[in-house]
Amino acid sequence: MPLTVVQHPLAQHYLTHLRDETTKPALFRTLARKLTTLLAIEATRTLQTVSHPIRTPLKSIDSPVLDQGIVIVPILRAGLGMVDAITDLFPEVSVGYIGMARDEETAIANSYYRKLPSVEGREVLLIDPMLATGGSAEAALEDIYSQNPARVQLICIVAAPEGVSRLEKAFPSLNIITAALDDELNDRKYIVPGLGDFGDRLYGTF
Ligand code: URA
Repeated sequence: MPLTVVQHPLAQHYLTHLRDETTKPALFRTLARKLTTLLAIEATRTLQTVSHPIRTPLKSIDSPVLDQGIVIVPILRAGLGMVDAITDLFPEVSVGYIGMARDEETAIANSYYRKLPSVEGREVLLIDPMLATGGSAEAALEDIYSQNPARVQLICIVAAPEGVSRLEKAFPSLNIITAALDDELNDRKYIVPGLGDFGDRLYGTF
């Protein structure tokens, strides 16, 4: 399974400030959005285009335009912090939602909401900022893959080795695009060094 860690210095700069515990929610939201833009650019570098006839002020030419329906699926609630970056880049996307809540004792994710458009034959970007155990992502991906999408990619801000290997086994064709592959999970299944609870830092719910 291809795992891409985006090493662009600007991506790493944004990530450092997201990790910093002194970063307050307003700045955290801005940084999450900017970093997601860079990750989404990487995830979509092989999107299909078709030739489109136009006339510049100087000449008629055939020039590429995007030719692929994209569906993005943020996992609630933390994934919401990454949506606007992608809808800014691709205003025509369809946005589905999957709500997953993590039991703080067992770290097992339970689905409480699902609203998905048809993903058959479409390019799907699953948005989950923290790939920790991979439980939420696996449940969402089972749902998405059962509908025969053209391709599925997972965009996350930070990934843990445990989550990556779980998804690798379950979905060998999945691409994962992240800004960091961190060291491990702690006993509460938080990513270390990580950045804490992404949803709490995004929305100030400490
Ligand atoms: N979810 C988070 O928000 N942070 C983690 O470290 C793990 C899961």
